[in-house]
Amino acid sequence: MNIELQCCALFIVFTITVMFLREKKLDLMNRKLFFRAICACFVCLFFDIFSIIMIDQTVSGSVPHSATEIVCKLYIMLLVLQGYFGYVYASTSLLPLEKTWAKNLRIVFHLIFVAGEVLILVLPIDFFADGRIVYSYGPSTSVAYLLSAVYIISTIVTTIAYRNQIPGRRFVAMLFWQGIWLLAAGIQFLVPSLLLVGFASAFGMVILYIQLENPSEYYDGSTGLFTTNALSAYIHDKYKFGRQFSMFTAKIHFLSNYVDYNMEHDAVIRTARALVALGPEPAFRIDDDTFCVVYDDKDRMFEKAADIKRQKDGVKDIPAKGTYLLIPDSHELSGPDEFFRFLHTYLESEQEIVICDKALINELRDQIRIKKMIDEALRNDRVEVFYQPFYNIKKSCFDVAEALVRIRLENGEIVAPPRFIPIAEESGQIRSIGIRVFEKVCEFIASGEAGKVGLEKIEINVSAAQFDRDDPERFVMENIQKYDISPEWINLEITETAATKNWDIMLDNMHRLIDKGVTFSLDDFGTGRSNIDYFVNMPVKTVKFDNTFTQGFFSNDRMKPVLTGMTDIVHKLDMGIVAEGIETEEQARAMKEMGVEYIQGYYYSRPLPKDELIKFLNLNNSMNE
Ligand code: C2E
Ligand code: CA
Ligand code: CA
Repeated sequence: MNIELQCCALFIVFTITVMFLREKKLDLMNRKLFFRAICACFVCLFFDIFSIIMIDQTVSGSVPHSATEIVCKLYIMLLVLQGYFGYVYASTSLLPLEKTWAKNLRIVFHLIFVAGEVLILVLPIDFFADGRIVYSYGPSTSVAYLLSAVYIISTIVTTIAYRNQIPGRRFVAMLFWQGIWLLAAGIQFLVPSLLLVGFASAFGMVILYIQLENPSEYYDGSTGLFTTNALSAYIHDKYKFGRQFSMFTAKIHFLSNYVDYNMEHDAVIRTARALVALGPEPAFRIDDDTFCVVYDDKDRMFEKAADIKRQKDGVKDIPAKGTYLLIPDSHELSGPDEFFRFLHTYLESEQEIVICDKALINELRDQIRIKKMIDEALRNDRVEVFYQPFYNIKKSCFDVAEALVRIRLENGEIVAPPRFIPIAEESGQIRSIGIRVFEKVCEFIASGEAGKVGLEKIEINVSAAQFDRDDPERFVMENIQKYDISPEWINLEITETAATKNWDIMLDNMHRLIDKGVTFSLDDFGTGRSNIDYFVNMPVKTVKFDNTFTQGFFSNDRMKPVLTGMTDIVHKLDMGIVAEGIETEEQARAMKEMGVEYIQGYYYSRPLPKDELIKFLNLNNSMNE
């Protein structure tokens, strides 16, 4: 009898089924459908073998013809079922099931399946046996082949049409699985003694199991928890099938440098155990030190999160801090993309407990919008530079201007930096913005227009992020050379925050630029933590008294001696002073009397687009000549 291949296949499928059943379960649609497909494959193979035996027995006269007909029909009905399950497995993960047309298509395929099975049942079937050549034929079998072809081709077409939605590996595995089936059916059609279809379907299952439903994708070896991949599939499923959920995330921050690998490992294992002990809900390890548990009910989630926090607070032997991110209502977030963006954004929060509510979600959406706005502005050259001139008291003219970035929206509206600089600093876009600003300033200087209207220096703001990672010297000098301008034109304004991160590297960078002729100012002096160390040891030429600091001079009597004293100290250290935020004549006079070198503020001019700046300087600088 020609059943060796089928027996082999049956054994393979049996092994995969056992392996699959032994795994820890995560309620995933894909896995349910895979299990259904593999069960169908198993039963189908069984009936494949059984029908061959029956045909053999009928030919030798020991079994009645009608009994074998029934078994043959059952076999080909199962073959169709297998094809149908294969299609459902593929289309459920690929098609947008929330759309009506996809739902309708599902119903159509289901109806075709039922109609096909009924037809197979009622239409006549016959079989042929001659040595190793054994097959069934007739209208019933033809319907089965036709339907199987429809399912295989539909699966292939769907996979190709939606290949952008799945990782390349998944795409290749699905095509391979279906392709192998199609190929085997073709060969068997041409050479009937090669009963390959059953074996091919088992082989396809092996590929699916190893490539797509492989346990190592879903289980973290060291903790036994589910992995990030599992979480991703799980959350996608939840949103796709409209099931609400709640989740808490706990992150361990080790506090001391003395925490070694063993201690970390111990903390991770203990956390994993504690999470599993909380209940039957699935627990995930989504990063080395980050864990989460998903619940159907938010009250239970709050209760369990509090439980974990209590347990964590009770641990005294490991110097670690826990932070918690709670998402009570999954439906507040629009879908898996927003869900994971939320997770990644707020996991980095400094707070101990973050609860996802409408306000946070709006903040997130705002951030996303602004990031997109910055990207578009960079792409479409809508990052602009405005210039605010400073008044040089000694020379009675405007010889310095500060470059202040703006984003122009498509409708012409201008967006000021406080709206986007903090987000750009966080996302790293600040570096592209900084490059753009620098190029525009260099262009302005190189055009000769800046010099013609009496300017001698342009000040450019640099964020900590720009001084941290980039090589500022190379970037600055490359542009200076490219535009062929003197480095003396450039003054970089930095803040104390730039200095707090990598003090030595920053000083080194500053000195190298200073050697080339670039100068520096300390911006926003008088805000935040004013560390005397910084302005004593930083090689800056100028200190800029911040708006709030200078405003204090006029609104708070006790600030007056502070500012006057500070002015004295700065001058003794051989640095100049720019007073920022001067809005009235009276304020300007007071600052002059106090002895600052430069005045910047709306009193003289707001930040202006380049052309208006030129007009302003043409008018005001020539009057003083
Ligand atoms: P900043 O460096 O302290 O710049 C001075 C800010 O004060 C500017 O706000 C300016 O328009 C505003 N200002 C000037 N005179 C007055 C006044 O008399 N009264 C008041 N109330 N405000 C005045 P702007 O242009 O909105 O810039 C805000 C901040 O954005 C800047 O503060 C700077 O930290 C940052 N920034 C601007 N351009 C860039 C850039 O190209 N790169 C980086 N990294 N940061 C920038
Ligand atoms: Ca500034
Ligand atoms: Ca400032």
